[in-house]
Amino acid sequence: MNSIRVRVQSASASAKQISAVIDVPGGGSFDVSTRSNYTLDHSATPWLAPALAAGMRRHRDLVIDGTVDPTALDGATKAQKVLADWYRTYRRIEVSAAQSPPTRTLPERATGVGCFFSGGVDSFYSAITQADRITHLIFVHGFDIAVGDSELARKALTGARASAAELGKPLIEVQTTVRSALGDPLALDWGHVFHGPSLAHVGLALSKHLGTVVIPSSYSRDQLHPWGSHPSLDPLWSSDSVSFEHHELDVGRFGKIRRISSSDTAMNNLRVCWLNTDGAFNCGECGKCVRTKLGLRTAGVESPTLPGSISPEAVRTMYVSEGERTFLREGLAAMQDAGIRDEALTRALRYAIRRSYVRRFIPFSR
Ligand SMILES: [Zn+2]
Repeated sequence: MNSIRVRVQSASASAKQISAVIDVPGGGSFDVSTRSNYTLDHSATPWLAPALAAGMRRHRDLVIDGTVDPTALDGATKAQKVLADWYRTYRRIEVSAAQSPPTRTLPERATGVGCFFSGGVDSFYSAITQADRITHLIFVHGFDIAVGDSELARKALTGARASAAELGKPLIEVQTTVRSALGDPLALDWGHVFHGPSLAHVGLALSKHLGTVVIPSSYSRDQLHPWGSHPSLDPLWSSDSVSFEHHELDVGRFGKIRRISSSDTAMNNLRVCWLNTDGAFNCGECGKCVRTKLGLRTAGVESPTLPGSISPEAVRTMYVSEGERTFLREGLAAMQDAGIRDEALTRALRYAIRRSYVRRFIPFSR
């Protein structure tokens, strides 16, 4: 048996929980589960995207025990082409699964429109600008917040609940081990690949309630590059029941911050940090915190969750990834546009951008 095998555990799960055991030859067996305050889709369809990423990365064909939506299977073939073109470590594989009979009638779609909602800039922007069509916000514990970090999850969830209530949308709360129990042990790169299939997993699991799921963009059109959530990839995870939409390519990070800066809900609950030093909601000093503060400053507002001025010293010493560099450049331009003259900060930003090129070639310098 050389294929990765997905065994959906239908018997043990409650209506609000789904789980699967994914056997990876030479890698082990991974028991993955997802639960929510809403009922979930117990078919094999939600497991296709994450298992496909695992198979492509491990160069193993995929056998799924159970029925998979035919549109999702078609889309997965196209998604394979995109991922294999982007990354040479991801190879195309064969996928076999039971399909619904060809004479099937299309399933009746749920009317709900969900939007992933972490409480960050992208999710607030999509939630606010698409408010007239979005019916539910979706908060996921287990993606950027580790499954075991219940303290940070509690804080983030409190903010998400307050935001959803103020925006007048019910909050779908999801906890999943798809990252911790499958992606991380198999070294599936979260940013470049695995967060996309993981979002697809959660969206498809909510098919009883949502016919459309909005995925807030990470980058604008001119900043696009291979990334796990991407306008060329997200719609390919759609099924006959759920369509994925990658939302907003025309507005960049700083434009989004300007737009949400007029929302008290966004300003009072904004959560952008990925370091969360000592369990802090936003550390105030990492790349994401600094660029968001910069955006807020150019918009002329301050968020209570990101108080204080921007420390040029923190800017000079922060870790700047390739993606982060794009945002810092955008920040410099936004400062100029807003007529902000801050020599120390400008010098620090230019230094951090220059330094990010040098550091790329020095291993372990992070
Ligand atoms: Zn931070």
